Amino acid sequence: MKTLVAALALTLAAMTQPAAAQETSQPQRWTLVIHGGAGTIDRNRITPEQDSAIRAALDAALAEGSRILAAGGSAMDAVEATVRILEDDPHFNAGRGAVFTWDGTVELDAAIMDGSTRGAGAVARLSTTRHPISAARAVMTDSPHVLLTGTEADGFAAERGLEQVPNSWFHTPERRRQLDELRARQSADAGASWFDVDLKYGTVGAVALDASGHLAAATSTGGLTGKRWGRIGDAPLIGAGTYADDRACAVSATGSGEYFIRVGVAAEICARARLAGTPLQEAADAVMADVHALGGSGGVIVAGPDGEALFSFTTPGMYRGRANSAGLREVAIYGDE
Ligand code: ASP
Repeated sequence: MKTLVAALALTLAAMTQPAAAQETSQPQRWTLVIHGGAGTIDRNRITPEQDSAIRAALDAALAEGSRILAAGGSAMDAVEATVRILEDDPHFNAGRGAVFTWDGTVELDAAIMDGSTRGAGAVARLSTTRHPISAARAVMTDSPHVLLTGTEADGFAAERGLEQVPNSWFHTPERRRQLDELRARQSADAGASWFDVDLKYGTVGAVALDASGHLAAATSTGGLTGKRWGRIGDAPLIGAGTYADDRACAVSATGSGEYFIRVGVAAEICARARLAGTPLQEAADAVMADVHALGGSGGVIVAGPDGEALFSFTTPGMYRGRANSAGLREVAIYGDE
């Protein structure tokens, strides 16, 4: 508890520094913020090789989203393309490299939202669609619905021409090891946590402001290691893990989803900005403090209509990055950088 509070304080202090990220005077300004999950990420747990591979992966995703935005592309196209890259990268808990369910399969959740229309699409419990974020976008554009689930949702994605793969395509030995560890802990101790208390981080997300002044948000995840009974987290729930509204902000979240659902994190941050005029950093920090007070942990990325690009997290680290039209391009992992 004490450690978490200290981490929160540290994080909040670190978050107040990015004046450069808030530069907004460029005529064709755009902003992109990404995350690759939050959790007990500290220097003792990550090898130098993993550290540089993760930074390179985040930078490659930022590069692609930035390319789209710099060419005048839409925030929707940028967040989708960015998340697709991270879904294919086995370092992250989304698409390939997603965590395992209790039954040893992978079930994927994703959502996308367009701040200009508040159109939204989401999918949950996909098991064969290679890029869940594109399935979420297809739900928004090609169906009258917002959220589709399970094998029927994979069927919808297949009908829309999205690539299908066997479930084993998503599996990696490291995620299998994490499930085995969780199962061993539970059979040794019936009182052990249902889920991985260390939060096997790696959910991915992107938020962007495009040169036309529109915001978008996207999130994609495998959920939590050992999830069962058809559990669905916050990522595909519009307003909880994902939200975008041109009048306020775009948010993508990562963390202990059950708490993010109960707080309605992403919509709550935007509502504070829109209705009370709360600055986005303050709104994000306050809502994350609320999650923390209930017992949850994690983080958010936020983009605002004036080019704001910010993070807030209660965990020791969050894989993250941001870029903008003023030349900012940075990635970070630990809370103190
Ligand atoms: N929020 C995700 C979920 O609860 C997991 C994560 O972000 O690590 O499904």
